[in-house]
Amino acid sequence: MSALAPVGWRMEPDRFWVGAMECRVLVHGRGRGTPAWMFPDVPADRRAELTAPYLDAAGEFEFVYASLIVRAGDRVAVVDTGPPASSDGSEPGIVGALAAIGVTPTDVDVVVSSHGHLDHIGGLTTAGEATFAGVRHIVHQRELEYWTTGLEANGGAASLFRPVMEAGLIEAAGGEHEVLPGVRLLPTPGHTPGHLSVAITSGREHALYVGDSLAHEVNVTEPDWNHFSDMLAGPAIRSRRALVERAARDGSIIVGSHMTTRGRITRRSGGGFLYRPDAALHAPTTAAATHDGTDGLR
Ligand SMILES: [Zn+2]
Repeated sequence: MSALAPVGWRMEPDRFWVGAMECRVLVHGRGRGTPAWMFPDVPADRRAELTAPYLDAAGEFEFVYASLIVRAGDRVAVVDTGPPASSDGSEPGIVGALAAIGVTPTDVDVVVSSHGHLDHIGGLTTAGEATFAGVRHIVHQRELEYWTTGLEANGGAASLFRPVMEAGLIEAAGGEHEVLPGVRLLPTPGHTPGHLSVAITSGREHALYVGDSLAHEVNVTEPDWNHFSDMLAGPAIRSRRALVERAARDGSIIVGSHMTTRGRITRRSGGGFLYRPDAALHAPTTAAATHDGTDGLR
């Protein structure tokens, strides 16, 4: 490594620093989709024009399933636990992915779930018990209510949240607050009723984990494009705009749950925003794993 490399620069695309805090993106698996599937409400000609740079010869783009791990001093936060481990072993789940970077569940101090879709909470339980025994788990109050009562009370999300609730490990979050020094929850409702993003700050450096608020890189320049599974259209757009504004203002590194790059956002002279990828996140953290595309992503 050259002595002239900028502070914080590293060769590893899935590992970066925010001031003194180490961040790791765990890529659980990958999939492919089409713009018409992901953004069904966007006029076809505009959608085709603006997504063209991301598409392969088959007209598809790639996405990932990712979690973010933040190490703040001797404290460790896990943000999203990804899809469940696959029965054929090709996707080891959160415990296997953490093991690949030398972290065990007992090293973890807090688990944040951005929202209750199964590709984000699949690792909350193992064989019906909380995977992270004795660890604080944070979910937004509205999210927890949505997935554990009423129509969803017997659904897949409830079956993952309930053992963690019954073990007394869930803290229901309301407004913006810090869960570890420098790790702050940002309520960003819209994709789901209580979707959470996470802001990481150390010194003058910042990162933002945007979860599914930004489903794809094109959402930086097109924050009004809702994703097929955004539940509340107006709030989803407002939250996306607020995140893009915040990232541009702070020079944040942004990481999404399904974006294949991490990068930064700048204001474009004349209005709007530009996205500049810093690194591709194409390498799964463990053995190569591929979803068939349009089934699991939420
Ligand atoms: Zn998702």
